[in-house]
Amino acid sequence: MRDSHGRNINYLRISVTDRCNLRCIYCMPEQGIKKLEHVDILRFEEIFKIVKVSEKLGINKVRYTGGEPLVMKDIDKLIYETSKLQGIEDISITTNGILLGDMASDLKKAGLKRVNISLDTLDDVKFKSITRIGNLDKVMKSIDRCLTLGLKPVKINTVLMRGFNDTEFEDFLNLTREMPIEIRFIELMPIGEGIKIYDKSKISFMEILKNHPELTQIENEKSSTAQMYKIKGAKGKIGFISPVSCKFCADCNKIRLTSTGTIKPCLHSKEEINLKQYLNNEEMLTNTLKQAIFDKPLEHHLEEEKISRSEKMMYQIGG
Ligand code: SAM
Ligand code: SF4
Repeated sequence: MRDSHGRNINYLRISVTDRCNLRCIYCMPEQGIKKLEHVDILRFEEIFKIVKVSEKLGINKVRYTGGEPLVMKDIDKLIYETSKLQGIEDISITTNGILLGDMASDLKKAGLKRVNISLDTLDDVKFKSITRIGNLDKVMKSIDRCLTLGLKPVKINTVLMRGFNDTEFEDFLNLTREMPIEIRFIELMPIGEGIKIYDKSKISFMEILKNHPELTQIENEKSSTAQMYKIKGAKGKIGFISPVSCKFCADCNKIRLTSTGTIKPCLHSKEEINLKQYLNNEEMLTNTLKQAIFDKPLEHHLEEEKISRSEKMMYQIGG
């Protein structure tokens, strides 16, 4: 359906859990987070109820995210049930890739179409320092596994940060020479833990592009927020997503469902609409969601305010 600004809202991003098996420096505190009570988190059936109502309102793309979506017990079942809904054309996940290698085949059988794997460095030691826990080898094996299974396109999300991984830009470029993957560099956002490192770590993609004339701009994917580039002869592509310095609010087609059952019509707005209270009343659930979509804010104010207005953290929203 269209929001009050005429945008066609067809994409629902769902954080199925706020728990995670990593502690990325820009996302989660080192000590982890306070565990929510089970009753406070949407259960499988509750998430699916909201997906079904969303489908009736014109949502045709669903992405499961987290926290880490693959730590949710029934994620394969959720994907399977979602894939049976006629109106849903695309089901994807955003994952850190740690558990993906072992699960990818079952997830594909369940109906998963494609994956975004978050990977900020190709260096073992840096991987440990950015994720505080993770094992790079597992993520690289997951990427290979997804390519073998044909979960296409395999997209890699890389948050580029000055002083952490900006020196690896060329290593990532070189990966696209050999692998048919899409590496999407994402601007660090001043939200949650990201606020603490934002000023010293933010980096301008214009600066990077200026130093890499070998990158040729290619056509953007339909409804994608990334500006796409390629090196001649490479099997893969490069994308730049600049939510802060080059915002794409005018083309935003998303709403987000948090793991506690609120709708966030805009990632960087304070506004949240509680759907949990209407889970036993389909009419109220539908009308509340419809209104939330209609009232989606026009834009965020990150560039002027330098800080997100969101009261939820990225691990609660899912990116
Ligand atoms: N755990 C999964 C993962 O890491 O892919 C899914 C959830 S995670 C919150 C989704 C995406 O948000 C990841 O690609 C992560 O890099 C990104 N992210 C988290 N905090 C961010 C921040 N402050 N700025 C930019 N991206 C961020
Ligand atoms: Fe976990 Fe993803 Fe956040 Fe990293 S970015 S801590 S993997 S939720």
